[in-house]
Amino acid sequence: MSVISDVIAKVKQTDPNQPEFHQAVEEVMETLEPTVKKHPEYVKAKIYERLVEPDRAMQFRVPWVDDKGNVVVNRGFRVQFNNAIGPYKGGLRFHPSVNLSIIKFLGFEQILKNALTTLPMGGAKGGSDFDPKGKSDGEVMRFCQAFMRELFRHIGADVDVPAGDIGVGGREIGFMYGYYKKIRNEHTGVLTGKSMSYGGSLIRPEATGYGATYFAAEMLATRKMDFKGKMVAVSGAGNVAQYTVEKVNQLGGKVISLCDSSATIIDEAGIDNKKCNYVLDLKNVKRGRISEYADKYKAVCFEGKNVWDVIREQGIKVDVALPSATQNEISGKNAAALVKNGCICVAEGANMPSTPEAIKIFQDKKILYGPGKAANAGGVATSGLEMSQNSMRYLWTREEVDNRLLQIMKSIHKACYETAEAYGRKGDYVTGANIAGFTKVADAMLAYGIV
Ligand code: NAP
Repeated sequence: MSVISDVIAKVKQTDPNQPEFHQAVEEVMETLEPTVKKHPEYVKAKIYERLVEPDRAMQFRVPWVDDKGNVVVNRGFRVQFNNAIGPYKGGLRFHPSVNLSIIKFLGFEQILKNALTTLPMGGAKGGSDFDPKGKSDGEVMRFCQAFMRELFRHIGADVDVPAGDIGVGGREIGFMYGYYKKIRNEHTGVLTGKSMSYGGSLIRPEATGYGATYFAAEMLATRKMDFKGKMVAVSGAGNVAQYTVEKVNQLGGKVISLCDSSATIIDEAGIDNKKCNYVLDLKNVKRGRISEYADKYKAVCFEGKNVWDVIREQGIKVDVALPSATQNEISGKNAAALVKNGCICVAEGANMPSTPEAIKIFQDKKILYGPGKAANAGGVATSGLEMSQNSMRYLWTREEVDNRLLQIMKSIHKACYETAEAYGRKGDYVTGANIAGFTKVADAMLAYGIV
């Protein structure tokens, strides 16, 4: 048995009920094999074993009162995975599917993603099985306050800085930040994704979607291509999807799809900026369903299906796929159909949206495939820029932040591309991202001795 297979086996044996965490560990560890030979010092210091064990994992009760006066009990999590290169940093997810396995998979991925951004941030993730859908603003506020009533003791501007993720947008960050400020009596950069009126950064809402599109553009450029005239499939209809559509439009591509957990819409004419603004209002203000898009514009609505099922079943041709909804949304079957219909590039706005079978197909067919930890790192990178501005008590302009984001995405792309090449895997962005992120964290861990 090699060091790598030992680590994977031990993770599965120790926590048998954490399939998403196993999947993330396996995907990363398998690509780290070449580092074992090159860095015997990592093996000796048991860096691989230490990387998969979180520094600490908090699970807590979140009791709150709904509009009818009923007491509701949810479960909260914060997994502080690794702070070797900077304070813990990673989003909060509010979704009924949230459990320790999902938070650990996200926190583990976050370590390497944050290392790739070039900024000093460790890896963490948190959240709750609370479902904000269908709740009143008052209920969401009371839940967020109850959640922060426990979380506050674990976080701090130089300790752990949470942000948003699925189900946690500007509204939720506002409620949580307001409560933290009240009980701590301090106004610091303890959360990112804040609104502009109380310490946010310009471009933070746009950053993940813009960044994923910049990353895809960098990948296309390696084959002397760009977005102009390309047919693009985007999944999701939330924060990442919305700003992905906006940036693809700016770069001359045509987005034909969006989805939420109830339906997919296909608009062959393209989701232009006017339609995109309608989606922003529908999702962020009216909190409606994506099916309503098909009532407003000429589009076909497929109830109960995700974008990739529809593309396969309808034989729709797309050049670029930007999955931006959730984990494991692209099955092997759907990946095969995408490639067969001419898709040349997949850049993951979401975390782990491609199943292992799908990744294998993308890699075997040698299409451009950018894994989430590289492609969607623009969100956390801009959170890092928000932290810098908070520390400086200063605000950069839109252009300054956007330009820094673009430069960071270019440097992430370069690091992935060159690392893959150096390890004899030219064009393999998975290996490049994993090894580039890992070696940075491993070197810091080594410097600290056994802690
Ligand atoms: P969001 O604003 O809550 O949007 C998520 C979207 O995906 C919603 O439209 C949601 O539909 C849809 N969705 C969720 N589960 C689905 C399913 N099983 N099938 C089809 N659609 C589904 O969240 P987000 O911030 O855009 O995050 C999307 C992905 O990007 C996640 O994987 C997240 O971890 C990743 N990410 C986000 C950021 C960030 O800065 N926000 C940064 C890096 C990575 P419903 O409304 O019906 O649930």
